[in-house]
Amino acid sequence: MTTLSLATVLAEAARRHPDKVAIVDAGGERITYRELWAQTRAYAAGLRELGITPGDTIAVMIPNVADFPRVYYAALAVGARIVPISLLLTPEEVGYVLTDSQANLIVTHSAFLQAGGAAAQATGTRLVNVGPLPADLPNGPARLEELAAKVEPLHTYVTTEAEDTAVILYTSGTTGKPKGALLTHLNLVMNAAVNVFDVHPLTGDDVVLGCLPLFHTFGQTVGMNATFRLGGTLVLLPRFSGEAAIELMLKENVTIFHGVPTMYIGLLEAAPKAERLPQLKLCVSGGASLPVAVLEKFAEAFGSPIWEGYGLSETSPTATTNQPVFGAKPGTVGHPIWGVEVEIARPEIPERIEFVPDGELGEIVIRGHNVFAGYLNRPEATAEALVDGWFRTGDLGAKDEEGFIRIVDRTKDLVIRGGFNVYPREVEEVLARHPAIQQVAVIGVPDATLGEEICAVVVLEDKGVTEAELIDWSKERLGKHKYPRRIRFAETLPLGPSMKVLKRELRKQYS
Ligand code: AMP
Repeated sequence: MTTLSLATVLAEAARRHPDKVAIVDAGGERITYRELWAQTRAYAAGLRELGITPGDTIAVMIPNVADFPRVYYAALAVGARIVPISLLLTPEEVGYVLTDSQANLIVTHSAFLQAGGAAAQATGTRLVNVGPLPADLPNGPARLEELAAKVEPLHTYVTTEAEDTAVILYTSGTTGKPKGALLTHLNLVMNAAVNVFDVHPLTGDDVVLGCLPLFHTFGQTVGMNATFRLGGTLVLLPRFSGEAAIELMLKENVTIFHGVPTMYIGLLEAAPKAERLPQLKLCVSGGASLPVAVLEKFAEAFGSPIWEGYGLSETSPTATTNQPVFGAKPGTVGHPIWGVEVEIARPEIPERIEFVPDGELGEIVIRGHNVFAGYLNRPEATAEALVDGWFRTGDLGAKDEEGFIRIVDRTKDLVIRGGFNVYPREVEEVLARHPAIQQVAVIGVPDATLGEEICAVVVLEDKGVTEAELIDWSKERLGKHKYPRRIRFAETLPLGPSMKVLKRELRKQYS
């Protein structure tokens, strides 16, 4: 057995780079590593005062402000498991997560006290708040800062085993209700390290924009933990907009930007009003497929490359990266990260892993240090997902002869039109190239004759274009069974908590 704690990431940064700025908080306050670790140890002592012991579970509902890393690392320091909760959940949904994870405590931030408080009350979960209490709640719950101020800060963090669970991430996975994916200290320490050394080589002088939600795996590992791993600076932005991100990047000389494709579209939209970003060295995209048209437009507008990565909550998250060391190939997600294997297996044989020949389409499977330990209290779902030591992702893809992985779609997003498989991503790539289109999502909608028909929901940049023109554009570029017969115009697309387009919402809306 080997001991390892994710808390090491912040503790070591404080030891090695005490005077460097770890965080630029949402209000502009600069917090050094020494200060951040001291505040974290104080919060950890406050959690102990509340009776938290190693192995307990702490839910956190905190936006992208410095209290997120303070509470996250304080929970790790006392050996507790963290359940980050999406800020978009309703009180009922928060209650589901609290019950399912058997949380001993929820830590809310003032802005989310209402939803978190209602859920805590309904489920009988203890609650503590960070940040000032709202004016209409002067006698609200205990405040972690006050508890922490009464006791001596924790001297150091408690020892955990490398294979102990550090974070439980709620994810819908391939099917059903959200499940808690168990991520170990080893999973998360390794992924943070591989991200900085291999995926997008970072130096301790880099300044990273933290606009991806920290409750989501992408913002948490790739944004927060990876930046702390090397002693870089994380500039927090609680609410993303293209304008706000550009303004902050200019003000703080941001060198690295991580985002989901919707954020790149937001930056492009704001671009004509902005200067170029001279300090920006590198952008990393993940979480959903990045249309090649967006990648090209971005390079033109900002002069910065985008490296696309692929991963899931269950893989800590990074599994592959499309970075120049292997010769980046646009439209692919590159090669597996250091120490991880990614292969393509036959989706029709769920009980064992059988690889398909290169170039053939199949289910992406992953094996390595980034793969989670299973779903909390769900042996069946775990057995379906972890087969022969491989994680079945539910994503469809292929590997070419040079080893580049291409993500085609989620298995469940596949449209079967009159018996023919149509992969929405291919149709989206074609429509994204139309100059009048700003954003597009393609879904299957019920059709009496064909079973499913292809429908493209588009947000326009130029309102002058017609449905017929867009159908013609697609018809010229796609096979007969693939081009969309229905185009629907929308003002915006529904986005999930990590700003990914919610296809299930679109299917509900347009079916
Ligand atoms: P999450 O667990 O929320 O991080 O979602 C994981 C899912 O996001 C994966 O199963 C993929 O369907 C999707 N995804 C992540 N990265 C990419 C990418 N680069 N291209 C296409 N889909 C992606």
